[in-house]
Amino acid sequence: MKLSNIGEFGLIHAIQKLSVRRSPDTMIGIGDDAAVLKLSPSVLLLASTDMLIEGVHFDLSFTDYYSLGWKSAAVNLSDIAAMGGTPRFCLTSLALPAHIAVEAVKEYYRGFNGLIRKHKTALVGGDTCSSKDRLVISVTVLGEAKQPVTRTGAKQGDRIFVTGTLGDSGAGLELLKSGAAGKDPKAKNNTPRSDIEKLVGKHLRPSPRVEWGSQIARSGCASSMIDVSDGLSSDLFHLCEESRVGAVLRSDALPISGSFLKSAYRLQRSPLHYVLSGGEDYELLFTVPLARMKRVEAFTFPVTEIGMITGGHKMVLMDAAGRKTAIRPTGYNHFSRIGNCAKQTL
Ligand code: ADP
Ligand code: MG
Repeated sequence: MKLSNIGEFGLIHAIQKLSVRRSPDTMIGIGDDAAVLKLSPSVLLLASTDMLIEGVHFDLSFTDYYSLGWKSAAVNLSDIAAMGGTPRFCLTSLALPAHIAVEAVKEYYRGFNGLIRKHKTALVGGDTCSSKDRLVISVTVLGEAKQPVTRTGAKQGDRIFVTGTLGDSGAGLELLKSGAAGKDPKAKNNTPRSDIEKLVGKHLRPSPRVEWGSQIARSGCASSMIDVSDGLSSDLFHLCEESRVGAVLRSDALPISGSFLKSAYRLQRSPLHYVLSGGEDYELLFTVPLARMKRVEAFTFPVTEIGMITGGHKMVLMDAAGRKTAIRPTGYNHFSRIGNCAKQTL
């Protein structure tokens, strides 16, 4: 069977089945945003790793090296944020084509360190090797959590929340691809430059919601949590699958930014496409039982109620008039040709 028949997540399930839990101290292994490992009765280690491949995750004609370093760190710290944890240490490995300038690699590390310093996280190691033609980046992050929030605790009736806004990163990537974000005078565009820059900035230098994630965990409000890396439809699907529930999302409640709204007419697809399938927003999606809703009101960061967990396993989108349509996981899936949007940069 070919990889394209089962897709990235089918393959991960197959790996999961083959990988027996070796130690009683592996509290959570494959299947969540980070593994949770018990080092002692009072210390839980979080561990997560993510790769970025030239031509798959990034295109060097769209990104500068500082942003690339920043983003490699951000996507990894986001997985610690999704567990409600605190990042502490990271390791970064690079496979570099020989033509890349030393200054470019230094600039990558300036960006990487710029992001991790904001989160009091230290770079403590890695690996360096040559690559025939493409730049390959692998980052591992280690963190800690008192009470990790997993993907598995959502229950029927819980309300679904998301931080920040959705779709900006996917829109930013499309503006980059179309030339609207560049200096090309032929790229006619009536969207104010500041709005374009905001969207492109969200794509190139995302902010992992580390502080928000730990506030959510500390408040004890969340029954489950995941970060929105592949796209809302796919990440909600992962959460529903792991919790064995379904969900209904309200299309009129989905949070979109002013910059996105002002740019929407320049984009090829409907806003809903970027919100559901765009990916790389690195916002936090979490569920809250009704009895704990008051705790969400105390948050001082932007958070929006977007739907409800249901029984069964279906995901449904409901409009203001109550009309329902089924949602499929159409965010990014390596090896699959359907739905891939934000990360397919070539
Ligand atoms: P995320 O999008 O949050 O980074 P992924 O979808 O990449 O998560 O991974 C989901 C889960 O599968 C994680 O627990 C991850 O560690 C695990 N995983 C992914 N690829 C592999 C692999 N090749 N071998 C073992 N575990 C893997
Ligand atoms: Mg994740």
